[in-house]
Amino acid sequence: MIIDVHVHTRSPGHRYDPEEIATSIRLARQAGIDRVVQLHNLVRHPANAEGYTELSPSPAVVQQSNDLAMRIVAEHPDFYTGFCYLNPAHDPDFTLAEIERCVVAGNLRGIKLWIAVHATDVRLDPLMQRAAELDIPVLHHAWYKADGQTGNESTAAEIADLARRHPRVSIIMAHLGGVRWRGVLDIKPYPNVVVDTSGAQPVAGLVEYAVAQLGPERVVYGSDWPLRNYAVQKARVTGAKISDRAKAGILGENAARLLHLDRAPLPAVTKEKQYA
Ligand SMILES: [Zn+2]
Repeated sequence: MIIDVHVHTRSPGHRYDPEEIATSIRLARQAGIDRVVQLHNLVRHPANAEGYTELSPSPAVVQQSNDLAMRIVAEHPDFYTGFCYLNPAHDPDFTLAEIERCVVAGNLRGIKLWIAVHATDVRLDPLMQRAAELDIPVLHHAWYKADGQTGNESTAAEIADLARRHPRVSIIMAHLGGVRWRGVLDIKPYPNVVVDTSGAQPVAGLVEYAVAQLGPERVVYGSDWPLRNYAVQKARVTGAKISDRAKAGILGENAARLLHLDRAPLPAVTKEKQYA
């Protein structure tokens, strides 16, 4: 089974768009991908009265993005796994309630954190503790930018700090193509962190380096669709000079373990019940 752990939508108003989802599924299947992980909905919007922006979304936007993710999973449970998008700058009571709503009572199976606050921020701690209790993975954005980080964008060194503070949580650090060689070395001492292969365009030798330093079980395939192309991003793994065994792990087996795809299926939750 081939699993893409890093996929978005770009639905205006966070509304479910059957055409957008059908295109995503068709192109992923064309590229031989069997399952994808919906992280959050990417939409641009101006800062609101409380100062929230798309980089640090309001509680209402977080809920809308998670409603969309739950709808996508409910419509296509055989293809989509969904993560609960959170902003650690919010009141922890809201954040923990959102985890209960979307993961415990809902159909989402992990947490997505982007660039609202740095990974070193103590405001991540309550949600990380809950992730440890629920045994669900946390996918966290990371990048090294020579021209300055965007907002409170974390570096791989900051992801390493998060991993050290929360050794029981499986962390997926996004964007091998963004953190590159230095990022691989940052997370190497922390076995609870894997890196996804997304970020920028394929660079010769980078996947090979990550496999050599971390072991093939600590690398997972991610595309960052629709910002990047499923097939091109998958080819960084299929075209790498690594063993077929390593490729099978990166393209699916490692993610299946992290996502607990072997766990008992979710209790039947009707759409009416979930979106009422
Ligand atoms: Zn992304």
